[in-house]
Amino acid sequence: MRIPLIAGNWKMNTTVAEAERLVLEMLERLDNIQGIEKVICPPFLSLVAINMMLQSSSVKLGAQNMHFEAKGAYTGEISPLMLKELCEFVILGHSERRWYFGETDEIVNKKVNAALTNKLKPILCVGERLEENESGRTKEVVERQVTAALRGIEPTRDLVIAYEPVWAIGTGKAASGKEAAATIRFIREILAKLWNKRVADEIRILYGGSVTAANIREFVSYPEIDGALVGGASLKAEEFVSIVEQTADIKRRTK
Ligand code: PEP
Repeated sequence: MRIPLIAGNWKMNTTVAEAERLVLEMLERLDNIQGIEKVICPPFLSLVAINMMLQSSSVKLGAQNMHFEAKGAYTGEISPLMLKELCEFVILGHSERRWYFGETDEIVNKKVNAALTNKLKPILCVGERLEENESGRTKEVVERQVTAALRGIEPTRDLVIAYEPVWAIGTGKAASGKEAAATIRFIREILAKLWNKRVADEIRILYGGSVTAANIREFVSYPEIDGALVGGASLKAEEFVSIVEQTADIKRRTK
């Protein structure tokens, strides 16, 4: 059975002091929620401090990006070797990286490969833009992104995929649970074709895009949707805890 997972992507928000305060506000309550993996992904600068705060907790740490090289002359970059001392997860191929920073499918592929080689679990983001959705090209885009990101990579259940339609990220305009579940079913079919059905059935696939405490049930009620990658709502302690609680509750009852 797949263990449900909720990951919070804090993006470029919170100073170190603010990040520590946010963790303090939610840590005890998150820690007490069982049967679900809880991951927070603060900015790089806060990872050391938050890693220390999470030492004896069940809440796990993720980074929001990384370079694919282990070390070298890449000014301003952070490598898998640096992250693996601190994190278990790393978000890769987020649409903001793809569209604002020119990350190509090839770069994402190198990053996924580097993460797995260094025993970091990638949360690989894929998803179509509005015009692609409106012209009926969602499946084509998602298939291209998944296939390219996993080129040359051995089957592994350490991979997590987040289906995040670009038009739903940070817009307050979430996909419907039905649409998200259909695309996630399709992604699992791609994984079964690329690798095999057994591994495909074990890989967690999340939905992401304007998830809130008010709409999380709509997504996680579908058995195909194993949880969520949450942006804006993960910066509010009450709301993030509620998203995790509701997901754990639904998945427990529908097991
Ligand atoms: C995200 O950043 O991955 C995301 C889904 O953002 P939001 O929840 O704010 O739409």
